[in-house]
Amino acid sequence: MLKRFLLLRGAEVLAFALLAAVPLAVNNPYALGLLTLLAIYGILLIGLDVTVGYLGQVNLAQAAFLGLGAYAAGLSVTALGFGLFPALAVAALVGLGLGGLLALPALRLEGPQFALATLSFSALSATTLNEWESLTGGAQGLSLSRPPLFGHALDAPAFYWLCLVLLALVWTGLRNLLSSQWGRAFEALRDSPIATDAMGVGTYRHKVAGFALGSALGGLAGGLYAFNFQYLQPNSYGYELMVILLLGVVLGGRKSLWGAFVGASLIVLLPNLLSNRFLFQVFSGLGLLVALVAGIRNLVRKTARPFQAIAPIVAMGLLVGGGMVVANTEDWRKAIFALMLFSVVVGLPEGLMGFAAQQLARLFRVAPPDLPPPAALDAVLPQQPGDATTLLELRDLKRYFGGVKAVDGVSMSVRAGDIHGLIGPNGSGKSTAVNVISGLYAPTSGELLLNGQALPQGSLFKVARVGVARTFQNLQLFGELSTLDNVMVALKGVYRSPLPLVLLGLARGEERQAQADALALLELVGLRDQARSKAKDLTYGAQRFLEIARALARKPELLILDEPAAGLAYPDVSKLVEIIRRIHQRGVTMILIEHHMDVVSELCDTVTVLDGGKVIAAGSAAEVKRHPKVIEAYLGSAGAA
Ligand code: ADP
Ligand code: MG
Repeated sequence: MLKRFLLLRGAEVLAFALLAAVPLAVNNPYALGLLTLLAIYGILLIGLDVTVGYLGQVNLAQAAFLGLGAYAAGLSVTALGFGLFPALAVAALVGLGLGGLLALPALRLEGPQFALATLSFSALSATTLNEWESLTGGAQGLSLSRPPLFGHALDAPAFYWLCLVLLALVWTGLRNLLSSQWGRAFEALRDSPIATDAMGVGTYRHKVAGFALGSALGGLAGGLYAFNFQYLQPNSYGYELMVILLLGVVLGGRKSLWGAFVGASLIVLLPNLLSNRFLFQVFSGLGLLVALVAGIRNLVRKTARPFQAIAPIVAMGLLVGGGMVVANTEDWRKAIFALMLFSVVVGLPEGLMGFAAQQLARLFRVAPPDLPPPAALDAVLPQQPGDATTLLELRDLKRYFGGVKAVDGVSMSVRAGDIHGLIGPNGSGKSTAVNVISGLYAPTSGELLLNGQALPQGSLFKVARVGVARTFQNLQLFGELSTLDNVMVALKGVYRSPLPLVLLGLARGEERQAQADALALLELVGLRDQARSKAKDLTYGAQRFLEIARALARKPELLILDEPAAGLAYPDVSKLVEIIRRIHQRGVTMILIEHHMDVVSELCDTVTVLDGGKVIAAGSAAEVKRHPKVIEAYLGSAGAA
């Protein structure tokens, strides 16, 4: 236990202990200033990594949140007479609130548009800080003095320790958060936002929460920044800092607390690197060396295209050569940042820590902790009555895409406990029908009732919440997550701890429970012994089964399977039939879209046949098979596979 802790956390404990000991050992105000900045930028970059690393969004607003937090803390002290902690709390809350406000509209946008929204926010906040002179002092700046802590004035070492303690708290809290259901949701939504919603997790709300949290850390760092320099200037939080921060996160390595730490060190050291010719040459020489080693390795192992290996070498070569030619490297700093950013993005996309972590993982193999025994299936997937009452009813459902009448007036009712087959030739509207039921598309018209209540429309998330789960015709797994995590993300009713407990690391019990529950479902689909494999590394058949297990984690009343047998080899088809049987025994109602007529005959209690978006036959499998329209439309053309 202790050994495990030290193996995993030893480096962290050691690093923080060493950092804390520095002021005791050396009395060098300059070095202390750099270390204080390191702690502050560490908090800032950990916050930025939540959006850039975990949510996978290009966030250009973190420098602005640093500035807003700095002014919020500064003004709390100068105008309102707040103490140190209240002022820091205000700074963090300003980050949280404005971050949330920015995220609400901005995160409805995708990719480059989101980046632009954060860029506009930065411009707006910079202008406001500059122009609202009556409040901020404008370009003249704002002077403040560091408030005392519990009546004691904080000298430089004391303030440094305060920053370090806060960094340690942020570090621990974020690690707890990111290894909880929250972090799992962040990673899931990056791999498949659609499936995240369909599993009832809520892509949008998690993105907004993540962004607000990252911005709150930006605000907190800003507060510390204000008390560190005790003089604020609106121009400090502009374009240049924004680029440096991105460089820090990308170079250090995304999705990594250590990466943020390495990035922060780089940012702190940059001014020195640029102003000292000797240091610059050492640094750019090292950069060239890394680019050469990484590039040659990649070329030999063919893990990257030649361009990816060569471009960083050229860029770093330019840096070394340029450093010898130009008179003052500081004047060229923007070009230098650009070259570095380019090299990292192209040549070392996983960042320095990502690269180092791969090597370290090889040296120190720490086995993951043992998994608990699987929970009883009865507890995870309670037996449902399956009493043949009407569970789902569609009335004259239509969904048009422009002129294409994909679903054109479908009425059908699904009885509780049935396996209801939905068949028809390609393009007959089967997927569209279930996409409307599950909320991926809103219907053009028509009624949808679940247990007699109107089903929410056009929202995967809301439909998932009322007890409908689904799989996708084109797999939508969370490829980077383990098999176990894929199921855990979707688990319903296990995660109850409020956020503060999660941050304090007091939610481990429910994590354990979630593992046991997820294992029971993996056992049901025959994947228990692959719990730790990444989903993207599973065989195709196993991936299909995993999607079913994940959907079952929702404990659904209605489970929709869209062509689960598509692309499966024969032995896997029989496994699938067996799995569906087991689910049926639990009383779960299913809609099964299926091409293989023998599978349909074997499994389905009732069958609805679609053609051209309309129902052409309904009844038992034997009945519809004999129906002349079906023979003509489906069996005739598809060859009764
Ligand atoms: P099936 O699942 O039965 O093979 P689909 O429901 O996928 O059929 O498709 C029915 C029809 O609707 C097809 O003509 C298809 O091209 C069209 N369609 C499906 N989804 C879309 C979409 N998102 N945009 C436009 N047309 C679509
Ligand atoms: Mg389809």
